[in-house]
Amino acid sequence: MTINGQVLPADSSFGVVNPATEGEFSRAPECSRKQLDAAMDAATRAVQLWRADDAARVAGLNAVADAVDEHASELADLLTAEQGKPLGAAHYEVSETTRWLRAAAALELPIETILDDGSARAELRRRPIGVVAAITPWNFPLLLAGWKLGPALRAGNTVVLKPSPYTPLATLRLGEIVNQVLPPGVINVVSGGDHLGAWMTSHPAVGKVSFTGSVATGKKVMASAADGLKRLTLELGGNDAAIVLDDANPEAIGRGLFWGGFINCGQICAGIKRIFVPEALHDDVVDVLAERARRVRVGPGTQEGVQMGPIQNHPQFERVRGLVAEALSDGASAAAGGAPLDGPGYFFPPTVLTGANEGMRIVDEEQFGPAIPVLTYRTLDEAVERANATPFGLSGSVWGSDLDRATEVAARLDTGTAFVNDHLALDPCLPFGGSKQSGLGVENGPWGLDEFTQLQVVHRPAA
Ligand code: NAD
Repeated sequence: MTINGQVLPADSSFGVVNPATEGEFSRAPECSRKQLDAAMDAATRAVQLWRADDAARVAGLNAVADAVDEHASELADLLTAEQGKPLGAAHYEVSETTRWLRAAAALELPIETILDDGSARAELRRRPIGVVAAITPWNFPLLLAGWKLGPALRAGNTVVLKPSPYTPLATLRLGEIVNQVLPPGVINVVSGGDHLGAWMTSHPAVGKVSFTGSVATGKKVMASAADGLKRLTLELGGNDAAIVLDDANPEAIGRGLFWGGFINCGQICAGIKRIFVPEALHDDVVDVLAERARRVRVGPGTQEGVQMGPIQNHPQFERVRGLVAEALSDGASAAAGGAPLDGPGYFFPPTVLTGANEGMRIVDEEQFGPAIPVLTYRTLDEAVERANATPFGLSGSVWGSDLDRATEVAARLDTGTAFVNDHLALDPCLPFGGSKQSGLGVENGPWGLDEFTQLQVVHRPAA
């Protein structure tokens, strides 16, 4: 772990499993309460220096991005080993992480004059909050850490970061790497089980919690943060709908629709999890998706040419297997996939389900895996209503040939982001967040940066 500029072991450790082999290949430190206190103390002490020099922070963040780039191969190897994603995708995750860090470095913290009426002048300033507890899930360990570190540090805060116990290694290594270019205590990285997250969110030193994970955990985090009235950003789960319009060309949209759902083995918060198609296009869309699904090379992420790795962990593998089996026994059919591949490894082929309906868990819940139901609709109003009939509201997409019409339908989705003829076109300049139970607040761009600041009005008489 990285605490107060030092790389430290812990008294105990836990195993890290490679999902492509099911074998434990490494161990990670189990942070003690005392060590967490030390990390919080270090972060608290580091705030005063870190917040004082804007130019140094910009330079520091760019140096962090450079250092991560220099270690890209090592980090990508770790990601593939612990997360399972293909090596090319792991490299992409590292490069996206540094793209996000550099974008945060380029953001401004302007002092705005918001009142100047001859008798008084008021400035709006953005002050750091203090210590940020950053907690990440197992699907994009480095990228989602970067989404938090960039704006937190840019605004003058310091961070204690905890990765998921399923994927701690790349993040722990990231801590060691950035520690070489930052003052001690600015970034601390600790690892441990879920209880460590709970210690963090209730820790009195923390002023802000930035959490990415499931809705169920998000609710616990919110409750825990209430005591200290901590600031909160919650990026939670989704059940994104893709609505295919009657003027869509199934061949033309096939690639985007497929990978919008199956990228990262379907383990992505804002990925397509339900596809709505008009009855007349159902068979063509299913054929296009199923044909692609059958061509995808599933295997260990280290193998050349593999496009989809395993499901990341055993509970998630069992969950996806169970949701698909239940849908099949309740009357759905698999146009492609449908059952796990032979092990070892948590391999599940891309699965396209037809004949599924609301009321089945694979439709109503977030499956977070490589199995997507294709549902038919009769009228567009019905499709929009069903797309919105969920407690989730992360993103959604609309696919069609008439872009203006598709855009108007997209704007009717109750989601933080609505795409046209795309899904997951994320960018550091676009505020990303969920409506309803998919989250609270946004990340990215000036809006995301603002969430790591406390607005302060400085009011004075006119000169
Ligand atoms: P999870 O909620 O189980 O765990 C996320 C993190 O929270 C882990 O680091 C975990 O150790 C920690 N944690 C667990 N219990 C805690 C507690 N009581 N207090 C504080 N921290 C605690 O989620 P997961 O299974 O790792 O990730 C999958 C979920 O994450 C999916 O629902 C997915 O949609 C969501 N997700 C959301 C986004 C987004 O940006 N909206 C991005 C990626 C993943």
